[in-house]
Amino acid sequence: MSEVITEESKERAAIKKSPHYSYSSTNKYLLCPEQYRLYYIEQLRPKIQSANLVFGKVIHRVLEHLVITGIDPVKFFVGEWDKLKEVPLRYSKKESWEKLSGIGEGLLRKFQEEALPKLGKVEATEKPFEFKVTGLPLPFIGFMDLIAEIENKRTVVDYKTSASSYGYYEVALSDQLTAYQLAEPDVEQAAFCVLVKTKTPKIEWHFSRREPEALIAYIEKLEFVSAQIEAGNFYKRPGMWCSYCDYLMVCMGNKKKVQETLVQISPNTSS
Ligand code: SF4
Repeated sequence: MSEVITEESKERAAIKKSPHYSYSSTNKYLLCPEQYRLYYIEQLRPKIQSANLVFGKVIHRVLEHLVITGIDPVKFFVGEWDKLKEVPLRYSKKESWEKLSGIGEGLLRKFQEEALPKLGKVEATEKPFEFKVTGLPLPFIGFMDLIAEIENKRTVVDYKTSASSYGYYEVALSDQLTAYQLAEPDVEQAAFCVLVKTKTPKIEWHFSRREPEALIAYIEKLEFVSAQIEAGNFYKRPGMWCSYCDYLMVCMGNKKKVQETLVQISPNTSS
């Protein structure tokens, strides 16, 4: 796999080595407990990564680099994306390496023109965090993409690449933004900066702030989820999300396909 991906994984893996909970892991349990078990306990991973997922990681890395250095993001992106040209990735019917290359260039140009000038003082990028909650047996950890002043407010920002615009409710109810506010209680607001992969690239900012009741409700949810995990309560929760789940063939009992598409990784490389 390309250097761009492995470098990011190494840095994160060093922090993630000790047992913990995170937004991603608890969110996975809430989506489908069996998916959580297959990912975190059985440690099964697709042999070939989704192109969309890898594209999102590359864009994150380029944005981090841009905010730190101010260097042309398109040039950096082209260099990183080129390294993946010969790497087998899972593209959807509508995607290709070339198409994502053009989308990436367009989005980054737009970000440089529209979003970058919005940023005031940058405090941190890719900032790791950890907090403990009385009812959680393990620490809760994560990474914040950016902490910066936006419109004179200290803001924690998460970058998203998305095929479509975010709904207001997705922002208002996002557990991820709630987790950031728990981790960084002094921020004045939390935001998603969404890079929308439409034909004409779009950058959307969605700002939000959680009241104490929302923070308490999220802590209670974390306590509930961790108790279920500790008790080994894993069950299939089928829904439309099965159509893009990496473990559909496991649930369908198709052993041949499972062998062809999945691999069990060693415990230390868990992410
Ligand atoms: S295929 Fe559906 S039921 Fe099975 S693990 Fe995935 S989300 Fe859960």
